[in-house]
Amino acid sequence: MNPTVASSQGNGDMARRLAVARGDEPADLVLKGGRVLSVFTGEVFGADVAVAGEHIAGLGSYQGISEADVSGHVLVPGLLDAHMHLESTKLMVDEFARAVLPHGTTTVIIDPHEVANVFGLRGVRALLESAGDVPLDYYVMVPSCVPASRFESSGATVTAEDVGEFLREQPEAIGLAEVMDFPGVVAGDPGLLAKLATTRAAGRHLDGHAPGLSGHALNAYLATGIGSDHECTDAAEALEKRRLGMWIMIREGSAACNLEALLPVVLEHGPRNSMLCTDDREPGDLLHDGHMDSVVRKAIRLGCDPADAIVMATLNTARWHRRHDHGAIAPWYVADVVAVPDLREFRPAKVWKRGRLVASDGEAVPIPKVRAPQWMHDSVRIPVVSAADFRIPDGGRVRVIGVEPGSLTTRALVAEPGHRNGDATADPDRDLAKVARSRSGPGEGRRDRTAPGNRPHRDRVRLRFRASPRRAWLHHRARRTQPRRGRRE
Ligand SMILES: [Zn+2]
Ligand SMILES: [Zn+2]
Repeated sequence: MNPTVASSQGNGDMARRLAVARGDEPADLVLKGGRVLSVFTGEVFGADVAVAGEHIAGLGSYQGISEADVSGHVLVPGLLDAHMHLESTKLMVDEFARAVLPHGTTTVIIDPHEVANVFGLRGVRALLESAGDVPLDYYVMVPSCVPASRFESSGATVTAEDVGEFLREQPEAIGLAEVMDFPGVVAGDPGLLAKLATTRAAGRHLDGHAPGLSGHALNAYLATGIGSDHECTDAAEALEKRRLGMWIMIREGSAACNLEALLPVVLEHGPRNSMLCTDDREPGDLLHDGHMDSVVRKAIRLGCDPADAIVMATLNTARWHRRHDHGAIAPWYVADVVAVPDLREFRPAKVWKRGRLVASDGEAVPIPKVRAPQWMHDSVRIPVVSAADFRIPDGGRVRVIGVEPGSLTTRALVAEPGHRNGDATADPDRDLAKVARSRSGPGEGRRDRTAPGNRPHRDRVRLRFRASPRRAWLHHRARRTQPRRGRRE
């Protein structure tokens, strides 16, 4: 949904909402006979919820043109994801809405970092346009590090000027996304500081990404005005950051699961300045476990008070992201409401988005199909690869990426690979495997197209070894010199 249009509250809307709030006119919709969770006090109390247009007009006793019986249910605000990458779900905006609305997610703050890596901010603009008619609010944090570092080869580069221009023209762009080049920030890299200043000047806020940052370096990072982090992996780290005023997004994604480690900080110090997010969630997990509802359920299972868990997925997220009319069931707030039969079980039964029923009993209402513009199609060009491409000549010990379960952090290791006929080989017994990354994105393709007379691009298959805990991934780079056999020769 295009929030600019959707949240416009003209005088006509206001007069009508006032009349409904006073009880002079019937509401458009009344959710009747249920109990309401107040995210302001943590109480659950009996009240009708009156809706006028897309907003809540009042709580109390109300009559409506349309009424929905929610007796036996607790009404909680629609859930917000404080930080996520839509690309990780592999879903388009309509498909994602279809998947998560039944789980009670009504607003997401996305960082379209991968779209920007491929298409630049033109891609982000197209993404926002495509979400216009989808009944879910998509707000964008503008990707801050494209490419992520100078070691990456991306299809586009986003400069401070690009960020400024984008923020000026797109009201749905609400801030600067995870500033992940934290060493650059701490060192005072002028290009990065310019992006922060541009964002500040546009009246927007700054999301952080500061894994393991502590002491003076953390102070320096925060001194720039960056105010949040979603990369904490242990309670001590989260506590140090919270003490310095940082807003902590507790991440529970598909690969990185930090809720169990970080929740003790909430149990001891309360939910202030704390939010829940998924960052990266695979489609299978969305289907089987759900979205923000599953994070709330897990928090409750781990001993969190249900009201505190819900506050971290609603009001706190809305406040950090300056979406001041989101995240609560109260007059003036957008009418995003989730009905659950039991607060502790937290299984959404019915979901309203901006006053419209959008999901019931696990099914979303029909949502029109959205297609990406034609110029975005055909952007994944994978060259034909053969077994020979995965050959690594034996050269003794190799560098290995050590991966940890439930974490994104890796370790730099060195290990002895298997050996066969002069080649280094994988070793399943040690969970030592090769990984290949084929560089065949549109960035390369674009260069091919703009320089038609040039030599064909060298294909580059990057091979690595990886191993799980206490084991390791070998890391090796192989460059092929044959012309690539992709379709863009
Ligand atoms: Zn991050
Ligand atoms: Zn992220």
